[in-house]
Amino acid sequence: MAELGLDRLRELQEADQELRRLQGRKAAQDRSVRIRAEQIESHQQHIEAIRKKRHDARVKADLKEVEVRQKRADIERLKGQQLQIKDNRQYQILQNEIKFAELAIGKLEDDILNDYEDIETIDRELAQAQEELKQHQQELEALRRECEAKKDTVDAEIQTCRARRNEIAATLPPDVVRRFDRIADRLAGEALAAVILDEVEGTYVCAGCNMSVIQNTYVQLRGRIEKLVVCPNCTRILYLEDS
Ligand SMILES: [Zn+2]
Repeated sequence: MAELGLDRLRELQEADQELRRLQGRKAAQDRSVRIRAEQIESHQQHIEAIRKKRHDARVKADLKEVEVRQKRADIERLKGQQLQIKDNRQYQILQNEIKFAELAIGKLEDDILNDYEDIETIDRELAQAQEELKQHQQELEALRRECEAKKDTVDAEIQTCRARRNEIAATLPPDVVRRFDRIADRLAGEALAAVILDEVEGTYVCAGCNMSVIQNTYVQLRGRIEKLVVCPNCTRILYLEDS
């Protein structure tokens, strides 16, 4: 079997899987930084929404303040008119108008107080959200520093592993390596599978997909095979554990 380089293929698979694992680790680090950055962005949008809510509540209260001032001016004007009037009925009409205006002012002032309470609640919400944002930003910074510190080590490990993988690949026929790569890319780096005996069934199965392989496959692998034997089900390149 050595002539087909199955042992070398197994070494290639080992190096290939290690490389994939390292690359996966690097990608996971980058991903966690990205996810954290996205969380911060959505938190900032949340803070903007609170600020807008505060602004709207403030505008609402301010408009009521303007209304109160207008009504106070109205009352002054009505009182002035009262001074000019001799007719008792007319006087009473103005008095009623003043009373309505005063009632309206009282209602508006209650509303304004409520609005200010709302604004205070919003302010507390805003302060809390800002505090959380600060914390998230510190965490992101720490994560970035941690990733930055690990980056060189991981990159060096990847480089070493890739060199080793290429070294092994260079000892194998290029078409075999190409075939290996195709299967490995499709099956998350698992291009090879051992043929093992299913002791319950008493049949040989592909350890990659657990489907049984025909007896002939086992015989083929036992003998001097001239070409690669693949699992008919999952297409992994087959080998015998003790070969
Ligand atoms: Zn299989």
